[in-house]
Amino acid sequence: MTILWTTSSVMRFPYAYAVSLVQVDPEALWAVGFRGMIVDVDNTLLGFDDSELAPPVLQWIATAQKRGFRMVILSNNFPERVAAMAARLGCPGIPNALKPLPFAYWRALRLLGLRSVETVMLGDQLMTDILGAQLLGIRGILLNPIAQKDFPLTRVLRCVESWLVGGKRPQG
Ligand SMILES: [Mg+2]
Repeated sequence: MTILWTTSSVMRFPYAYAVSLVQVDPEALWAVGFRGMIVDVDNTLLGFDDSELAPPVLQWIATAQKRGFRMVILSNNFPERVAAMAARLGCPGIPNALKPLPFAYWRALRLLGLRSVETVMLGDQLMTDILGAQLLGIRGILLNPIAQKDFPLTRVLRCVESWLVGGKRPQG
C-alpha cells in the first residue's frame, strides 16, 4: 500500500498518489466509503501502445469488482479502443471524454448511480483525469504513467503536471 492518506479533503490536488493501479488497495478505499471507480485507459490500464491488458491488472479489476466496486472506464481516446477495454473488463466505457471537461464525468456518475463523494478517479494525468474529477468533487488518485509515450498534446500537459507535482510522485 503506497497511497499517502494525509487528508480526506477534496481540496488536496491530487487526493492521493500511487505508483500504479495494482498498488491501490480496493479494501482501503471501500473502508473509507468509496463505492465507485472511474478508471482512465491509456497509461493507466495499459501502455499507450499496448493492446492487451496485463494479467495483474485484470486480476486487480476482478478483485475490486468482487469487493462491490462499480466501475466505468473514461478515456479521451477513440471508441474502438475504449469499447474493447470495456468489454474485456465487463463495465461501461466512455470514449472521446474530453477530460478535464465535466460532461463525461457527469455521465460516468450517472452510469455508476453514485454521488461524486462516493467515487474515485484513477488516472495518470493531473491536468485531465484528476483536474476534471476534482472539479466535480470526485477524488483523484494520480498514478505514475505505465509508459513514457504520450499524445503530443499530453506531452504539453505533462510539463504543467511536472511543474505542479513532479517531485511528489512516488518512486516505484
Ligand atoms: Mg492516461
